Amino acid sequence: MDLVRRVQAMQEMARQARGTGKKIAFVPTMGALHDGHLSLVRRARELGDVVVVSVFINPKQFGPAEDFARYPRDLARDADLCIQEGVDHLFAPEPDEMYPPGHRTFVDMEGLTTVLEGSARPGHFRGVLTVVMKLLHVVKPHFAFFGQKDAQQALIVRRMVKDLNLDAEVVVAPTVRHEDGLALSSRNAFLGPAERAAATVLSRALGRARQMVEREDVRSARAIEAAVREVLAAEPRARIDYVAVVDAETLEPREEITGETLIPLAVFLGGTRLIDNALVRPPAAPRPPAGDKA
Ligand code: AMP
Repeated sequence: MDLVRRVQAMQEMARQARGTGKKIAFVPTMGALHDGHLSLVRRARELGDVVVVSVFINPKQFGPAEDFARYPRDLARDADLCIQEGVDHLFAPEPDEMYPPGHRTFVDMEGLTTVLEGSARPGHFRGVLTVVMKLLHVVKPHFAFFGQKDAQQALIVRRMVKDLNLDAEVVVAPTVRHEDGLALSSRNAFLGPAERAAATVLSRALGRARQMVEREDVRSARAIEAAVREVLAAEPRARIDYVAVVDAETLEPREEITGETLIPLAVFLGGTRLIDNALVRPPAAPRPPAGDKA
């Protein structure tokens, strides 16, 4: 595996790989790699001939009061994990390399980026879209892998790729969880033992929502949201940032659960903000009994 620090060197490698007919599979990350990231790398190895992982903590997607400065960084460990997983190129540019002085061009999107995470973190998705766009131009992948853990991010990246006719296929992979249900996240490292134990409340709350929709056939979004909030409120260490019940494609609030529905939430545990979500759909309408042609 080689460690690439320069944009130009990465672009040259990508050009060569494309020139020899190789399929490039790309996993963008902010490092502090865990099994969630590695599940994307494994999918990338299945679909691509050349696997590129990027580790770049993108300053443009953090607000001024957010955790950019203390975000976990351990490039040596990330590199070891990438070697073990058979990654070909680890692209880890410094912020100045990605944003040289004078940089002033950004990618923006209407609507989808101003709700949920976008409303809680103004400017976040402008930073995400800009860096993903830049990375796609540098790495030139045939396939780019994103996690369902960041459902809104995956959705807006898909939208950008479509809207701007980018030549990459976006693959979204399921959320990897600990045995107790907590979604793997680099930010889990910030949790103290009591917060870590309390953090299972996110997946428990989402599990309750899934049960209501898929087993109890509850269709009222308001009832489902109330039940999720009730589970979260029972954990004194958890402070709700938002809970929503939205259309999985438009992110518009639902009143009734009719089709594929996203239930995203953001919760603070102490100073750590965690996000998770469930994608649910109502059980298929029961088939009419055999012989009943009505
Ligand atoms: P990050 O390093 O947090 O920016 O994440 C890089 C990519 O890994 C994003 O596409 C995330 O959605 C994905 N990811 C993060 N956590 C998980 C997880 N627990 N399961 C699956 N994918 C994940």
